[in-house]
Amino acid sequence: MRMLRYDLHCHSTRSDGLLTPAAVMHRAAAGGVDVVALTDHDEVAGLAEARDAAHEAGLQFVPGSELSVTWRGDTVHIVALGIDPQNEPLAAGLADVRAGRDARARRIGDALAHAGIPDALEGALTYVTSERLISRTHFARYLVETGHVRDLKDAFKRYLTTGKPGYVPHAWASLADALQWIHGAGGQAVIAHPGRYKLTTAQLRALIAEFRDLGGDALEIVSPSHTTQQYSDFAALARTHGLKGSCGTDFHGPGESRMDFGELPPLPVGVDPVWNAW
Ligand code: AMP
Ligand code: MN
Ligand code: MN
Ligand code: MN
Repeated sequence: MRMLRYDLHCHSTRSDGLLTPAAVMHRAAAGGVDVVALTDHDEVAGLAEARDAAHEAGLQFVPGSELSVTWRGDTVHIVALGIDPQNEPLAAGLADVRAGRDARARRIGDALAHAGIPDALEGALTYVTSERLISRTHFARYLVETGHVRDLKDAFKRYLTTGKPGYVPHAWASLADALQWIHGAGGQAVIAHPGRYKLTTAQLRALIAEFRDLGGDALEIVSPSHTTQQYSDFAALARTHGLKGSCGTDFHGPGESRMDFGELPPLPVGVDPVWNAW
């Protein structure tokens, strides 16, 4: 039997993606994916639509989310897989995290005005596709449109990351709370794109160890954010910490993502896939 293709990380218009939940599922199917998780930032509102579309397209659907967490002052993302979207503590926790985004967005707007870019909040809002969620991606799209930067990457590099004029610090959920919400909702917790954080090797190991001690389940190993070398490095880290492995494109939209559906290489051999128990 052919190996199933898993893609367990992507976004829709319910957070900072460009396609509706249904359109994301149809694109995943067209790309040859068999099992797909929709993982909008701090949000589960797209899951019902995505599930119906996935089933219509013959896909196996995994309800997910990508939770924003502050760990020792740095932002890390935890992907939740197999959660019950109706779970009350999870829904309440996510609502709290989302609520913090509005005040942060106003502060980003003020910071950009200070840097000579007026009306950025209003501009970002024209890119927002869910009244429940504004993200730095929406600011980035506005900065591209107005010619302040070349592309999204440039927007983050020059304005929206730590130390840059449009960056404002923000406290997200704690790692412990995020894991409690995810497990309480019947899900598995995955450290998203571990290679993307500006952490030292020692800090990354500390994060992984603390995550494992809190009951965390897996590391996202195969991701367009990682090099081939990092696939092996994170596979080894997962094994030594007794964690499973996951994979996902982190797809946000056509032309905005490094990999499209169906382009992920397989998990390295020796990794226990997060889906083994499904
Ligand atoms: P936020 O959760 O509002 O802080 O926004 C984080 C989102 O910004 C991520 O999920 C990515 O979609 C996007 N992002 C972060 N860094 C970059 C980058 N260098 N290039 C493009 N998008 C980025
Ligand atoms: Mn995003
Ligand atoms: Mn992320
Ligand atoms: Mn993501």
